[in-house]
Parts: sequence; C-alpha cells; structure tokens
Amino acid sequence: MAKVMAVNCGSSSLKFKLYEMPEEKVITSGIVERIGHEDAIFQIKVGDNKLKEIVNVKDHGVAVQLVMDAMIKHHIIEDIHEIKATGHRVVQGGPYFSESTPFNEDTYKKIESLIPLAPLHNQAHLVGYDAFKKVLPNTPAIAVFDTAFHQTMGPEDYSYPIKKEYAEKYMIRRYGAHGTSHKYLTEIGHELLGNKENKRLIICHLGSGASITATRDGKCVATSMGLTPLGGIMMNTRTGDMDPSVYYQIQKMSGKSYEEIFQEFNKQSGLYGVSGTSNDSRDVEDAANGGNKDAQLALDLWARRIADFIGQYYVRLGGCDMIIFSAGIGENSPESRDMIIDRCKEALGIELDAEKNKCRGVLREISTPESKIKVYVIPTDEEVMIARDAYKLIKE
Ligand code: ADP
Repeated sequence: MAKVMAVNCGSSSLKFKLYEMPEEKVITSGIVERIGHEDAIFQIKVGDNKLKEIVNVKDHGVAVQLVMDAMIKHHIIEDIHEIKATGHRVVQGGPYFSESTPFNEDTYKKIESLIPLAPLHNQAHLVGYDAFKKVLPNTPAIAVFDTAFHQTMGPEDYSYPIKKEYAEKYMIRRYGAHGTSHKYLTEIGHELLGNKENKRLIICHLGSGASITATRDGKCVATSMGLTPLGGIMMNTRTGDMDPSVYYQIQKMSGKSYEEIFQEFNKQSGLYGVSGTSNDSRDVEDAANGGNKDAQLALDLWARRIADFIGQYYVRLGGCDMIIFSAGIGENSPESRDMIIDRCKEALGIELDAEKNKCRGVLREISTPESKIKVYVIPTDEEVMIARDAYKLIKE
C-alpha cells in the first residue's frame, strides 16, 4: 500500500487528489484557487466534510505547503513522506511524449521547450512541479500528458495542409487534448465489449472544453482538437474548427488585434457567443427552453457539429462498435445526448432508449438492443489515471 498524489497545476490554481494505491481509494482532494492573491481560496475534503478558508497565497510554493500542513493538521497523513510519488498533469507533450514519463532534467527541458505551444499551461505545470520538488525533493514524480494518447495518430490524421516549412520549423500539427480521459474511457469501453480485438470506439468527451476521439484496438486513430484546444467541435466558449479566413476577415473589419480575436475565439465564442447568454450549457438549455432563439441556434449548431464528427469518424474507422458520452455535459445532460444522436441516428442505425438516457453521472448503456451501435454514458476519471502512473513509478 502506498499514498500517491495526482496534481493538476494551472497558472493560478493547484488541484490535488491523494490516493491509497493500489486500491485506488481517494483519501482526500482539494484545490487552491487564486494563487498569487491575498484572498486565495483553499478547499480540502476531510472525511465527508469540505473545509474552506480564505488565505494569503503568494505563489505555488506557499500553496503546496498549505496543502501539506492541512493534511497533517487534519491527520490525513502524519508525515509528508508518506506521499511516495506525485503525478503531474501536463497539457502539451508535443511530439516527444507518447506515454507518461518520469520527471528528470530531460523531461523538464522538453516540457519547457513546448511552452510556446501551450503558454499558460506548460509554464504553470513546471512552476507547480518545482514547488512540489522543494517540499518533497526525493519523492519520484511523473508527467502525465494530455497529448500522449493521441501520439498514435498517423501523418494523414495529424498534419495540416500548410507549407512544410511551417510544420517542421514551428512544430505545427494536431496534438489533441483530453488524452488521459480518452484513454480511460477507451479502456472501460473495451472491458464492456469483452476485450475483443478490432473494436472501434467514438468517444465524446463533452465538458466545457470538449473533444471527440476515434480509437481502434484501444489506440487513437483521430481526434478533434488540434494544435491547441481551440480546434474541433464547438465548445462552451470556443469556436472549434472554422474557415481560417473568419479570423482574417474579423481582424480586417473590426481593427482588433489578432491576440484580442484569438482570446475572443477561445473565451467568448461557442455556446456563449452564439446564444449571448452564458458559458454554462445548463443556462443555455434553460434559455432555449424559455423560447430564446439564439440559445436554440447555439444548441442546434453545437449538436450538429458533434454529430458531423461522429459521422466522419464512423467513416474513418470503417464502422463503430460503441459511442461513449462523458465529462460534464456528456455525463449529465440527457437532452444534449438526444440532440446529438438525433442528428446521426438515421445514417448509422442508432436507437437510444429514452428511459435509460435519462441517467446522469452514472455508467449506463443508453441504446436499445436493436441499435447497430452501442451507446454508453461513462463517467470519466483523469485523476485515477494519473495516480496509476505515479504508482507505477514506485512499484517497478
Ligand atoms: P471542464 O473540466 O472542461 O471544466 P466539465 O467536464 O466539468 O468541464 O463540464 C462542465 C460543463 O458541464 C458545464 O458546461 C456544465 O454546464 C455542464 N454540466 C455539469 N453538470 C451538468 C448537468 N447536471 N446538466 C447539464 N450540464 C451539466
């Protein structure tokens, strides 16, 4: 038995989950938000209670210390060295990492060299890693990459039709995202299909960020997110794929800077931009139900784009054995699942069971026995994948 910690550091946040392995029992979890502020928010679970305090957290180093002190104070651990390994989520692994990799100088340098591809994320992951290293200098750490699962894509699936020079010099290609979630869901999907060979899955990770992945034999064949998480399907606040000249045209006509428009495409578009209501899909659904036509168009557009990707991946895989819905919207919104399947069911012979589709947040088959493709809701769990990889470090 050993305790390992799954860590997800953002530029102003630190999320953590402590596991007892190999049982995969969650001992505690929590978050420090607004790092860098005097009124940072610290939350930690102690038994069934969630404790919350407002504290001055000047940097990630203070945040890590805060977490350690709280765990000792509340007797979650008696000594910080009970933590035998840490696993750090890293958003961008570029072409270098096709699997989780122990942190060492080389790993660190490669993650650092990829900062231009994910400026906010990779920088923050290293700051977080450094902070843990200071407190637990001899505890092994592993980097778990959001992009690693997608490294099995071939050039036909990951290249963009741009000048070769750009692709090579600036490492411009599709890397994808949510790989840890897609890997987890693929594994569960295969178990449900009896671990047989040659199975083809279409996985819809629909959270506020969202991506779709096509897998064959447990490996990623294609994924919807691109160079950055802006690509692929329409999301809560992101555009997804578009004619690139939309960018040029808006810049030319509005006089705004490319940076400003890039931020708008990331933070003020998608469901939010089209509906003009909210960046939370629940609010958009409520507005549409209340007769707001823009909100209805936003949802229709969203569902259409996802259904189109499902159709595209059905062709890419030469068929499909299972469609999986997961993440915030995929797990919790029967209406969304219905809207999506409605737009591809005729061509693909899918039949949803309306009663079963009412489920929220649980693993369930939601298609009828007659459906040509099985459809499942499967709650995702990225942290347990990080914990498993961290545990491997000390097991081997
Ligand atoms: P992320 O990790 O990318 O922030 P999540 O997977 O947590 O995203 O998903 C957040 C999204 O899930 C939000 O748009 C939210 O509206 C939606 N969501 C969460 N719970 C529900 C629910 N009960 N019904 C419908 N949508 C939900």
